[in-house]
Amino acid sequence: MSTQDFLPENVRKLPPGELFQFRCHPGVDCFTDCCRQLELALTPYDVLRLKQALKLTSSEFLERHAVIEQEQEDVFPMVYLGMVDDGRASCPFVTSEGCIIYKDRPGACRVYPLGRAAFQNPDGKVGDFHVLITEPHCHGFQEKKEQGLGDWIQDQGLEPYNEFNDLVLSVIQHDKVKQGAQFTEDQIKKYMISLYDIDAFANLIKQPEFKGLDSFPEVSREDIIGDDKALLRFGISWIRHELFGE
Ligand code: SF4
Ligand code: SF4
Repeated sequence: MSTQDFLPENVRKLPPGELFQFRCHPGVDCFTDCCRQLELALTPYDVLRLKQALKLTSSEFLERHAVIEQEQEDVFPMVYLGMVDDGRASCPFVTSEGCIIYKDRPGACRVYPLGRAAFQNPDGKVGDFHVLITEPHCHGFQEKKEQGLGDWIQDQGLEPYNEFNDLVLSVIQHDKVKQGAQFTEDQIKKYMISLYDIDAFANLIKQPEFKGLDSFPEVSREDIIGDDKALLRFGISWIRHELFGE
């Protein structure tokens, strides 16, 4: 069986090199329809960009805008963007003029109408493929513009999103997770703070009793405090050390 056999009818694997016809702009008659009635899972890098755009701390962002769901108490939670209760489940950042945080919109919004499936191979390297999602409400497919995947990734500013999402895979698709590892409440709290609540993580690192840097002699407090990307990079390494002893 091929990957395509597992995909819904309106989702098609995009072969490398194939062009797809699509353009989204404020003139389309469906403008912002895709910003309602959606389930938007947030990655750690999405939260980093959103909290910066909104000039909030990560704790404030999570408190105001995130819905955290955990299927079982010993597995990693999922973080979703909380939608507005306006009868249309609108994104809190959509207006009639478009997205107010467009420059920092989440990766899923950028990649649409494509979707990216990434996976960690046994050798630790990340593989991926993209799918094209054709939804009836989206009229961008009728626009006369063709592009390939590489252009789309570049135009939509997806590189840093893919880079950080791939790093996070080394945690969420770790072999021990695939084998059904169960985590304690304390480990889950560490997972959330190091990946999603990086300002709280920075405060933790500032405390002299925090010994998590001892295993990373190449990392200094001064280098990562105040640099969100460096903090998240360190958070990913630290949580791997805490959960998997790496
Ligand atoms: S973040 Fe912006 S692009 Fe994404 S759903 Fe919300 S309004 Fe739309
Ligand atoms: S539904 Fe499609 S074309 Fe319309 S605004 Fe959303 S992405 Fe653009």
